[in-house]
Amino acid sequence: MIPTIIVGAATDIGRVRSENQDTYGMFPETGETHPRGRLFVVADGMGGHRGGKNASELAVRTIGETYFSMTNGSVGENLVEALETANDAIRHEAIKNPALTGMGTTCVALVMDGPRAHVAHIGDSRVYRISGGEIIQLTQDHTVVAEMVRRGLLSKEDAMQHPERSVLYRALGTGTEPEIDLQPEIAMMADDRFVLGCDGLTNMVDDEEIHELVMTCPPQEACDALVRLANERGGYDNITVVVVHLLAA
Ligand code: CA
Repeated sequence: MIPTIIVGAATDIGRVRSENQDTYGMFPETGETHPRGRLFVVADGMGGHRGGKNASELAVRTIGETYFSMTNGSVGENLVEALETANDAIRHEAIKNPALTGMGTTCVALVMDGPRAHVAHIGDSRVYRISGGEIIQLTQDHTVVAEMVRRGLLSKEDAMQHPERSVLYRALGTGTEPEIDLQPEIAMMADDRFVLGCDGLTNMVDDEEIHELVMTCPPQEACDALVRLANERGGYDNITVVVVHLLAA
């Protein structure tokens, strides 16, 4: 049986930056059911001279095209390959156009394939799963500060205030062999929700607030409310969020 999904998405420049370098994508873009499932991507670009926007747009587009063009291999393998292809695309673009040198992007990708979900990511954009009354962050932030927290060298509270909390040690476009994390396949349950968000959201709104808003509003209203909240608190960065609600498995 085909699962029924409701989705919401929002992206906003925030209140400080002069450009929105985030991009999100939902594939197939028509929203129709595809044998390879549905794919959701959030990318948070970095780099001046429009580099950040180029990198995040190129990543989202390349991942959408690549994933749905593959016919061999598992969903998880294909998803990782799609991110690797995006890495190459960003590097090639930067070589062609030296003004874009040094551009890169974070990337989180979620595939909902029948009753299973697959998550791949690189960087510090996140995927959360809300299930059974709990919110769980599925992805690990690839930041130096988050790594210090994992090693017990810094508290979670101090990390949130750390001036270098956005410094990444992995991203797409910054090296020839991106190290992409693939989560173990998730058996979804009816009423599960997934939240994809960039650091412009997660630095401003904590996990429990995301949980509460996503549980109390339909996906699009939840996305709009999360963007509004991040902006009310300063909107120091671009804000992007995608919410996917699985009604029935
Ligand atoms: Ca950001």
